[in-house]
Amino acid sequence: MSQGVERVTAAFRDAFGGEADGVWTAPGRVNLIGEHTDYNEGFVLPFAIDLAARVALRVRDDGAMRLVSTAEAESGTSQLSVQGLRPEHASGWSVYPAGVVWAFKERGIDVPGFDLVLDSDVPLGAGLSSSHAIECAVATALNDLTAARLDAQQLVLATQRAENAFVGAPTGIMDQSASLRGRSGHAVFLDCRDQSAELVPFDAASAGLVTLVIDTRVAHSHADGGYASRREACELGAEVLGVKALRDVSVEELDEARGLMDEMTFRRVRHVVTEDQRVLDTVAALRESGPGAIASFLDASHASMRDDFEISCDELDTAVEASRAAGAIGARMTGGGFGGSAVALVPLAEEDRVRSAVLAAFAERGFRSPRLFTVTPADGARRLA
Ligand code: ADP
Ligand code: MG
Repeated sequence: MSQGVERVTAAFRDAFGGEADGVWTAPGRVNLIGEHTDYNEGFVLPFAIDLAARVALRVRDDGAMRLVSTAEAESGTSQLSVQGLRPEHASGWSVYPAGVVWAFKERGIDVPGFDLVLDSDVPLGAGLSSSHAIECAVATALNDLTAARLDAQQLVLATQRAENAFVGAPTGIMDQSASLRGRSGHAVFLDCRDQSAELVPFDAASAGLVTLVIDTRVAHSHADGGYASRREACELGAEVLGVKALRDVSVEELDEARGLMDEMTFRRVRHVVTEDQRVLDTVAALRESGPGAIASFLDASHASMRDDFEISCDELDTAVEASRAAGAIGARMTGGGFGGSAVALVPLAEEDRVRSAVLAAFAERGFRSPRLFTVTPADGARRLA
Protein backbone atom coordinates (compact mmCIF):
# COMPACT_ATOMS: atom_id res chain seq x y z
CA MET A 1 0.00 0.00 0.00
CA SER A 2 1.36 3.42 -0.87
CA GLN A 3 2.20 5.89 1.85
CA GLY A 4 -0.53 8.23 0.61
CA VAL A 5 -3.18 5.51 0.90
CA GLU A 6 -1.96 4.54 4.36
CA ARG A 7 -2.10 8.13 5.60
CA VAL A 8 -5.62 8.81 4.42
CA THR A 9 -7.03 5.44 5.53
CA ALA A 10 -5.46 5.88 8.98
CA ALA A 11 -7.01 9.35 9.20
CA PHE A 12 -10.35 7.85 8.12
CA ARG A 13 -10.19 5.27 10.94
CA ASP A 14 -9.41 8.05 13.44
CA ALA A 15 -12.26 10.24 12.24
CA PHE A 16 -15.05 7.76 11.60
CA GLY A 17 -13.90 4.32 12.80
CA GLY A 18 -13.70 1.26 10.57
CA GLU A 19 -12.57 1.08 6.96
CA ALA A 20 -13.36 3.28 3.98
CA ASP A 21 -14.95 1.79 0.85
CA GLY A 22 -12.03 3.05 -1.20
CA VAL A 23 -9.42 5.74 -1.82
CA TRP A 24 -9.35 8.06 -4.84
CA THR A 25 -6.81 10.66 -5.87
CA ALA A 26 -6.59 13.69 -8.13
CA PRO A 27 -3.56 15.91 -8.75
CA GLY A 28 -3.03 19.65 -8.77
CA ARG A 29 -1.81 21.26 -11.96
CA VAL A 30 0.51 23.91 -13.29
CA ASN A 31 0.00 25.79 -16.52
CA LEU A 32 3.08 25.48 -18.70
CA ILE A 33 1.91 28.10 -21.20
CA GLY A 34 -1.31 29.75 -22.44
CA GLU A 35 -2.50 32.51 -20.09
CA HIS A 36 -5.78 34.41 -20.43
CA THR A 37 -6.40 32.46 -23.62
CA ASP A 38 -9.13 30.22 -22.14
CA TYR A 39 -11.97 32.77 -22.15
CA ASN A 40 -10.86 33.85 -25.63
CA GLU A 41 -11.66 30.31 -26.83
CA GLY A 42 -7.97 29.64 -27.43
CA PHE A 43 -5.31 27.17 -26.33
CA VAL A 44 -3.74 26.20 -23.00
CA LEU A 45 -1.08 23.66 -22.05
CA PRO A 46 -1.25 22.65 -18.37
CA PHE A 47 0.02 19.44 -16.81
CA ALA A 48 -1.06 17.38 -13.81
CA ILE A 49 1.59 17.41 -11.08
CA ASP A 50 2.94 14.92 -8.58
CA LEU A 51 1.21 16.71 -5.69
CA ALA A 52 -2.31 15.40 -5.20
CA ALA A 53 -5.42 15.23 -3.04
CA ARG A 54 -6.55 11.83 -1.77
CA VAL A 55 -10.01 11.10 -0.43
CA ALA A 56 -11.11 8.04 1.55
CA LEU A 57 -14.87 7.56 1.30
CA ARG A 58 -17.51 5.31 2.83
CA VAL A 59 -21.10 5.40 1.66
CA ARG A 60 -23.81 6.06 4.27
CA ASP A 61 -27.46 5.09 3.96
CA ASP A 62 -28.96 8.15 5.71
CA GLY A 63 -28.04 10.82 3.14
CA ALA A 64 -25.67 12.63 5.51
CA MET A 65 -22.30 13.91 4.30
CA ARG A 66 -19.58 14.16 6.91
CA LEU A 67 -16.33 15.77 5.81
CA VAL A 68 -12.94 15.87 7.54
CA SER A 69 -9.63 17.27 6.28
CA THR A 70 -6.19 16.41 7.63
CA ALA A 71 -5.09 20.01 6.98
CA GLU A 72 -4.51 21.67 10.33
CA ALA A 73 -6.04 24.95 9.24
CA GLU A 74 -9.22 23.14 8.17
CA SER A 75 -9.80 20.88 11.19
CA GLY A 76 -13.24 19.87 12.44
CA THR A 77 -16.07 17.91 10.85
CA SER A 78 -18.50 19.54 8.44
CA GLN A 79 -21.88 17.92 8.24
CA LEU A 80 -24.29 18.40 5.34
CA SER A 81 -27.13 16.50 3.78
CA VAL A 82 -27.27 15.22 0.21
CA GLN A 83 -31.03 15.86 0.14
CA GLY A 84 -32.03 19.39 -0.77
CA LEU A 85 -28.39 20.48 -0.96
CA ARG A 86 -27.96 24.17 -1.80
CA PRO A 87 -24.89 26.45 -2.06
CA GLU A 88 -25.77 28.35 1.12
CA HIS A 89 -25.59 25.11 3.14
CA ALA A 90 -21.85 24.71 2.53
CA SER A 91 -19.01 26.81 3.89
CA GLY A 92 -15.23 26.58 3.95
CA TRP A 93 -13.72 23.76 1.92
CA SER A 94 -16.96 21.72 2.05
CA VAL A 95 -18.14 23.79 -0.96
CA TYR A 96 -15.88 21.66 -3.18
CA PRO A 97 -17.17 18.17 -2.33
CA ALA A 98 -20.71 19.51 -1.87
CA GLY A 99 -20.53 21.28 -5.25
CA VAL A 100 -19.62 18.02 -6.94
CA VAL A 101 -22.50 16.18 -5.24
CA TRP A 102 -24.83 18.98 -6.32
CA ALA A 103 -23.60 18.85 -9.95
CA PHE A 104 -24.01 15.05 -10.05
CA LYS A 105 -27.55 15.36 -8.70
CA GLU A 106 -28.34 18.04 -11.26
CA ARG A 107 -27.51 15.42 -13.90
CA GLY A 108 -30.12 13.13 -12.36
CA ILE A 109 -27.55 10.89 -10.67
CA ASP A 110 -28.66 9.32 -7.39
CA VAL A 111 -25.88 10.25 -4.93
CA PRO A 112 -25.79 8.57 -1.50
CA GLY A 113 -24.52 10.18 1.68
CA PHE A 114 -20.94 9.43 2.70
CA ASP A 115 -18.17 9.95 5.23
CA LEU A 116 -15.07 11.47 3.65
CA VAL A 117 -11.54 12.22 4.76
CA LEU A 118 -9.38 14.50 2.61
CA ASP A 119 -5.60 14.39 2.75
CA SER A 120 -3.85 16.63 0.24
CA ASP A 121 -0.29 17.61 -0.47
CA VAL A 122 -1.24 20.30 -2.97
CA PRO A 123 -0.34 23.57 -1.23
CA LEU A 124 -3.36 25.84 -0.72
CA GLY A 125 -3.55 29.01 -2.73
CA ALA A 126 -0.18 28.56 -4.49
CA GLY A 127 -1.79 28.59 -7.92
CA LEU A 128 -1.53 24.79 -8.16
CA SER A 129 -5.29 24.35 -7.97
CA SER A 130 -5.66 22.59 -4.64
CA SER A 131 -9.41 23.21 -4.94
CA HIS A 132 -9.78 21.36 -8.25
CA ALA A 133 -7.73 18.48 -6.87
CA ILE A 134 -10.44 18.06 -4.20
CA GLU A 135 -13.29 18.34 -6.69
CA CYS A 136 -11.76 15.91 -9.17
CA ALA A 137 -10.94 13.34 -6.47
CA VAL A 138 -14.52 13.50 -5.15
CA ALA A 139 -16.01 13.40 -8.66
CA THR A 140 -13.92 10.33 -9.52
CA ALA A 141 -14.98 8.62 -6.29
CA LEU A 142 -18.68 9.35 -6.80
CA ASN A 143 -18.42 8.23 -10.41
CA ASP A 144 -17.20 4.82 -9.17
CA LEU A 145 -19.58 4.54 -6.22
CA THR A 146 -22.75 5.45 -8.12
CA ALA A 147 -24.18 4.29 -11.41
CA ALA A 148 -23.08 7.58 -13.00
CA ARG A 149 -20.53 6.21 -15.51
CA LEU A 150 -19.49 9.69 -16.62
CA ASP A 151 -16.65 9.80 -19.15
CA ALA A 152 -13.71 12.20 -18.78
CA GLN A 153 -15.44 14.96 -20.74
CA GLN A 154 -18.61 14.69 -18.63
CA LEU A 155 -16.53 14.77 -15.44
CA VAL A 156 -14.83 17.93 -16.70
CA LEU A 157 -18.22 19.55 -17.30
CA ALA A 158 -19.68 18.37 -13.98
CA THR A 159 -16.77 19.82 -11.99
CA GLN A 160 -16.91 23.04 -13.99
CA ARG A 161 -20.62 23.26 -13.18
CA ALA A 162 -19.80 22.71 -9.49
CA GLU A 163 -17.27 25.57 -9.62
CA ASN A 164 -19.44 27.99 -11.58
CA ALA A 165 -22.87 27.43 -10.08
CA PHE A 166 -22.15 26.10 -6.57
CA VAL A 167 -18.75 27.49 -5.51
CA GLY A 168 -19.47 30.63 -7.52
CA ALA A 169 -16.14 30.93 -9.37
CA PRO A 170 -16.37 31.82 -13.09
CA THR A 171 -13.65 29.37 -14.14
CA GLY A 172 -13.10 27.55 -17.43
CA ILE A 173 -12.09 23.95 -18.04
CA MET A 174 -8.32 24.06 -17.70
CA ASP A 175 -7.77 23.02 -14.10
CA GLN A 176 -10.07 20.02 -14.01
CA SER A 177 -9.06 18.92 -17.51
CA ALA A 178 -5.45 18.69 -16.38
CA SER A 179 -6.38 16.98 -13.11
CA LEU A 180 -8.69 14.45 -14.77
CA ARG A 181 -6.86 13.84 -18.05
CA GLY A 182 -3.20 14.25 -17.04
CA ARG A 183 -0.66 11.55 -17.78
CA SER A 184 2.83 10.98 -16.43
CA GLY A 185 5.44 12.46 -18.79
CA HIS A 186 2.83 14.52 -20.67
CA ALA A 187 1.18 17.92 -20.78
CA VAL A 188 -2.49 18.32 -21.70
CA PHE A 189 -3.05 20.44 -24.81
CA LEU A 190 -6.56 21.90 -24.61
CA ASP A 191 -8.62 23.69 -27.18
CA CYS A 192 -10.95 25.84 -25.08
CA ARG A 193 -13.35 26.31 -28.00
CA ASP A 194 -14.38 22.71 -28.64
CA GLN A 195 -12.89 21.44 -25.34
CA SER A 196 -10.91 18.74 -27.12
CA ALA A 197 -7.77 17.51 -25.36
CA GLU A 198 -4.56 15.86 -26.57
CA LEU A 199 -1.62 14.55 -24.57
CA VAL A 200 1.74 16.02 -25.61
CA PRO A 201 5.03 14.49 -24.42
CA PHE A 202 6.64 16.68 -21.74
CA ASP A 203 9.29 14.60 -20.06
CA ALA A 204 11.47 17.30 -18.54
CA ALA A 205 13.45 14.80 -16.44
CA SER A 206 14.66 12.79 -19.41
CA ALA A 207 15.85 16.07 -20.97
CA GLY A 208 17.85 16.77 -17.78
CA LEU A 209 15.45 19.53 -16.72
CA VAL A 210 13.23 20.20 -13.73
CA THR A 211 10.16 22.39 -13.59
CA LEU A 212 10.50 24.73 -10.65
CA VAL A 213 7.40 26.49 -9.30
CA ILE A 214 8.07 29.72 -7.42
CA ASP A 215 5.06 30.70 -5.29
CA THR A 216 5.49 34.41 -4.55
CA ARG A 217 2.88 34.17 -1.75
CA VAL A 218 1.45 37.51 -2.78
CA ALA A 219 -2.04 38.15 -4.11
CA HIS A 220 -2.32 41.81 -5.02
CA SER A 221 -5.63 43.36 -4.15
CA HIS A 222 -6.42 44.57 -7.68
CA ALA A 223 -6.44 40.98 -9.01
CA ASP A 224 -10.24 40.75 -9.34
CA GLY A 225 -10.70 44.12 -11.01
CA GLY A 226 -7.67 43.47 -13.19
CA TYR A 227 -9.11 40.19 -14.39
CA ALA A 228 -12.48 41.72 -15.21
CA SER A 229 -10.94 44.64 -17.10
CA ARG A 230 -8.71 42.28 -19.15
CA ARG A 231 -11.76 40.25 -20.11
CA GLU A 232 -13.58 43.40 -21.16
CA ALA A 233 -10.64 44.56 -23.28
CA CYS A 234 -10.57 41.17 -25.03
CA GLU A 235 -14.32 41.32 -25.70
CA LEU A 236 -13.99 44.83 -27.07
CA GLY A 237 -11.09 43.77 -29.30
CA ALA A 238 -13.06 40.83 -30.70
CA GLU A 239 -16.07 43.04 -31.32
CA VAL A 240 -14.04 45.69 -33.17
CA LEU A 241 -12.39 42.98 -35.28
CA GLY A 242 -15.74 41.35 -36.02
CA VAL A 243 -14.80 37.91 -34.69
CA LYS A 244 -16.55 35.61 -32.22
CA ALA A 245 -13.44 35.46 -30.02
CA LEU A 246 -9.78 36.51 -30.23
CA ARG A 247 -8.99 32.90 -31.05
CA ASP A 248 -10.13 33.81 -34.58
CA VAL A 249 -7.39 36.43 -35.07
CA SER A 250 -3.98 35.38 -36.44
CA VAL A 251 -0.60 36.93 -35.69
CA GLU A 252 -0.46 38.12 -39.34
CA GLU A 253 -3.67 40.10 -38.85
CA LEU A 254 -2.29 42.10 -35.92
CA ASP A 255 -0.74 44.84 -38.07
CA GLU A 256 -4.10 45.66 -39.53
CA ALA A 257 -5.80 45.46 -36.13
CA ARG A 258 -3.49 48.07 -34.67
CA GLY A 259 -5.19 50.95 -36.46
CA LEU A 260 -8.69 49.88 -35.51
CA MET A 261 -8.56 50.29 -31.73
CA ASP A 262 -6.94 52.30 -28.96
CA GLU A 263 -3.36 51.45 -28.08
CA MET A 264 -4.11 49.68 -24.80
CA THR A 265 -6.83 47.46 -26.24
CA PHE A 266 -4.44 46.60 -29.06
CA ARG A 267 -1.78 45.44 -26.61
CA ARG A 268 -4.33 43.27 -24.77
CA VAL A 269 -5.35 41.74 -28.09
CA ARG A 270 -1.72 41.24 -29.12
CA HIS A 271 -1.01 39.30 -25.93
CA VAL A 272 -3.86 36.87 -26.50
CA VAL A 273 -3.19 36.39 -30.21
CA THR A 274 0.55 35.84 -29.78
CA GLU A 275 0.00 33.66 -26.69
CA ASP A 276 -2.26 31.32 -28.65
CA GLN A 277 0.50 31.05 -31.26
CA ARG A 278 3.10 30.39 -28.55
CA VAL A 279 1.01 27.49 -27.22
CA LEU A 280 0.85 26.00 -30.71
CA ASP A 281 4.59 26.57 -31.19
CA THR A 282 5.32 24.98 -27.80
CA VAL A 283 3.25 21.91 -28.67
CA ALA A 284 5.05 21.56 -32.01
CA ALA A 285 8.47 22.01 -30.37
CA LEU A 286 7.69 19.42 -27.68
CA ARG A 287 6.62 16.91 -30.32
CA GLU A 288 9.59 17.55 -32.60
CA SER A 289 12.46 18.32 -30.25
CA GLY A 290 11.48 17.95 -26.57
CA PRO A 291 11.36 20.20 -23.50
CA GLY A 292 14.72 21.89 -24.16
CA ALA A 293 13.20 23.54 -27.25
CA ILE A 294 10.40 25.49 -25.54
CA ALA A 295 12.39 27.89 -23.37
CA SER A 296 12.13 30.91 -25.68
CA PHE A 297 8.33 30.59 -25.76
CA LEU A 298 8.20 30.72 -21.96
CA ASP A 299 10.34 33.88 -21.93
CA ALA A 300 8.26 35.53 -24.67
CA SER A 301 5.06 34.62 -22.82
CA HIS A 302 6.29 36.37 -19.70
CA ALA A 303 7.35 39.50 -21.59
CA SER A 304 3.93 39.62 -23.25
CA MET A 305 2.10 39.36 -19.92
CA ARG A 306 4.37 41.95 -18.34
CA ASP A 307 4.35 44.51 -21.16
CA ASP A 308 1.20 43.94 -23.23
CA PHE A 309 -1.31 42.39 -20.84
CA GLU A 310 0.19 44.12 -17.76
CA ILE A 311 -0.71 41.41 -15.25
CA SER A 312 2.73 40.74 -13.78
CA CYS A 313 4.07 42.38 -10.62
CA ASP A 314 7.47 43.04 -9.04
CA GLU A 315 7.53 39.71 -7.22
CA LEU A 316 6.76 37.71 -10.37
CA ASP A 317 9.26 39.67 -12.44
CA THR A 318 11.86 39.10 -9.75
CA ALA A 319 11.16 35.34 -9.72
CA VAL A 320 11.53 35.18 -13.49
CA GLU A 321 14.60 37.41 -13.77
CA ALA A 322 16.48 35.83 -10.84
CA SER A 323 15.84 32.28 -12.03
CA ARG A 324 16.89 33.13 -15.60
CA ALA A 325 20.04 34.89 -14.43
CA ALA A 326 20.99 31.87 -12.28
CA GLY A 327 20.64 29.28 -15.05
CA ALA A 328 16.95 28.62 -15.81
CA ILE A 329 16.62 28.22 -19.60
CA GLY A 330 13.15 29.81 -19.64
CA ALA A 331 10.67 31.20 -17.12
CA ARG A 332 7.29 32.85 -16.94
CA MET A 333 4.57 33.84 -14.52
CA THR A 334 1.73 31.32 -14.53
CA GLY A 335 -1.91 31.76 -13.58
CA GLY A 336 -4.11 34.83 -13.60
CA GLY A 337 -1.44 37.32 -12.54
CA PHE A 338 -0.95 40.09 -9.93
CA GLY A 339 0.77 37.52 -7.71
CA GLY A 340 0.64 33.75 -7.52
CA SER A 341 3.37 31.62 -9.02
CA ALA A 342 6.04 31.62 -11.68
CA VAL A 343 7.35 28.54 -13.41
CA ALA A 344 10.96 28.02 -14.55
CA LEU A 345 12.57 25.30 -16.63
CA VAL A 346 15.90 24.56 -14.98
CA PRO A 347 18.79 22.20 -15.83
CA LEU A 348 18.97 19.63 -13.05
CA ALA A 349 22.57 20.63 -12.29
CA GLU A 350 21.54 24.27 -11.77
CA GLU A 351 18.53 23.64 -9.53
CA ASP A 352 20.22 24.49 -6.22
CA ARG A 353 21.81 27.60 -7.67
CA VAL A 354 18.47 28.83 -9.05
CA ARG A 355 16.68 28.16 -5.77
CA SER A 356 19.29 30.11 -3.78
CA ALA A 357 19.33 32.96 -6.28
CA VAL A 358 15.54 33.36 -6.16
CA LEU A 359 15.49 33.33 -2.35
CA ALA A 360 18.33 35.87 -2.25
CA ALA A 361 16.66 38.17 -4.79
CA PHE A 362 13.42 38.16 -2.78
CA ALA A 363 15.28 38.83 0.47
CA GLU A 364 17.25 41.66 -1.12
CA ARG A 365 14.07 43.41 -2.26
CA GLY A 366 12.36 42.92 1.08
CA PHE A 367 9.70 40.55 -0.36
CA ARG A 368 8.15 37.77 1.66
CA SER A 369 10.16 34.57 1.20
CA PRO A 370 8.70 32.53 -1.69
CA ARG A 371 7.83 28.81 -1.58
CA LEU A 372 9.71 26.70 -4.11
CA PHE A 373 8.54 23.33 -5.47
CA THR A 374 9.72 21.10 -8.25
CA VAL A 375 6.84 19.44 -10.04
CA THR A 376 6.74 16.52 -12.46
CA PRO A 377 3.99 15.67 -14.96
CA ALA A 378 1.89 12.97 -13.29
CA ASP A 379 -1.12 10.74 -13.91
CA GLY A 380 -4.59 12.21 -13.56
CA ALA A 381 -7.42 11.31 -11.19
CA ARG A 382 -7.97 7.60 -10.42
CA ARG A 383 -8.84 5.03 -7.79
CA LEU A 384 -5.91 4.02 -5.56
CA ALA A 385 -7.49 1.40 -3.31
P1 ADP B 1 -5.89 27.04 -5.30
O1 ADP B 1 -6.95 26.18 -5.88
O2 ADP B 1 -5.15 27.83 -6.32
O3 ADP B 1 -4.95 26.29 -4.41
P2 ADP B 1 -8.18 28.26 -4.12
O4 ADP B 1 -8.35 29.50 -3.32
O5 ADP B 1 -8.95 28.07 -5.36
O6 ADP B 1 -6.59 28.13 -4.39
O7 ADP B 1 -8.48 27.00 -3.22
C1 ADP B 1 -7.97 26.91 -1.92
C2 ADP B 1 -9.07 26.39 -1.02
O8 ADP B 1 -9.22 24.98 -1.23
C3 ADP B 1 -8.76 26.55 0.43
O9 ADP B 1 -9.18 27.81 0.91
C4 ADP B 1 -9.58 25.44 1.05
O10 ADP B 1 -10.93 25.82 1.18
C5 ADP B 1 -9.52 24.36 0.00
N1 ADP B 1 -8.47 23.36 0.28
C6 ADP B 1 -7.40 23.06 -0.46
N2 ADP B 1 -6.68 22.06 0.10
C7 ADP B 1 -7.34 21.71 1.21
C8 ADP B 1 -7.12 20.73 2.25
N3 ADP B 1 -6.06 19.92 2.24
N4 ADP B 1 -8.03 20.66 3.24
C9 ADP B 1 -9.10 21.47 3.27
N5 ADP B 1 -9.35 22.40 2.34
C10 ADP B 1 -8.49 22.54 1.34
MG1 MG C 1 -8.61 27.00 -7.03
